[in-house]
Amino acid sequence: MRKQIAAANWKMNKTLQDGKQLLQDIISAEYNLQSNHEVIFAVPFPYLMEMKAIIESNNQFYISAQNCHHKTSGAYTGEVSVDMLASIGIKHCVVGHSERREYFGETNSMLAEKTDLCLSKGITPIFCCGEALDIREAGQQNAFVESQLQESLFHLDADTIQKIIIAYEPIWAIGTGKTASSEQAQDMHAHLRGVLGKQYGNTIAGNISILYGGSVKGSNAIELFSQPDVDGGLVGGASLVVSEFIQIINALKK
Ligand code: PEP
Repeated sequence: MRKQIAAANWKMNKTLQDGKQLLQDIISAEYNLQSNHEVIFAVPFPYLMEMKAIIESNNQFYISAQNCHHKTSGAYTGEVSVDMLASIGIKHCVVGHSERREYFGETNSMLAEKTDLCLSKGITPIFCCGEALDIREAGQQNAFVESQLQESLFHLDADTIQKIIIAYEPIWAIGTGKTASSEQAQDMHAHLRGVLGKQYGNTIAGNISILYGGSVKGSNAIELFSQPDVDGGLVGGASLVVSEFIQIINALKK
């Protein structure tokens, strides 16, 4: 059974002290987690080790990086390598968030390199894809997102692709308060699973978790996550609010 995942993306928010409080408040709530449920917190680099120490005893909670560099090591001042993440025991890394694509010029081929590096070190990439508003308005969203997968992921073999988490995040819904309808989310997720099925077979496609991201909140999570091809969410703003993220975790499909 594929995993159902609530993933928080803190982005460039919270001091260490506020972040620790947030994490502690969220993990100390009562949950009825099933064996296929996972909760992931993508926190700023400087906090990775301390946050990891806080969740250490809980085997369904993970701390993730928000990014990594696409080269192994060297003269890249200010960057963080996959080796560094692996050396502190990090098991997940967000790859290709739309903010990284837009503000830091990340291309599909760079993201293929990041994906490979993560996988080579046992780190699960949370691979983000999604279209801008003009592409959706032109009705080109399916082809656009399919090409993001093709160019960054489809060089992987059938065993390896199953180690990826995909997050479909329509850019027009990120941080805007404008959520994709559950029907729009399901349509795209079904399309992506179909594309994965064509490339790797339906059994393998059925094993891959596809998260939805874009203004997920406590109030819309149940409806979004109940769609058959939506396996949880990648959540920005609402993951910074204790009561919201608790509701989101509790909305994971049972
Ligand atoms: C995100 O940053 O991945 C995201 C989906 O943000 P928000 O939930 O705030 O739209």
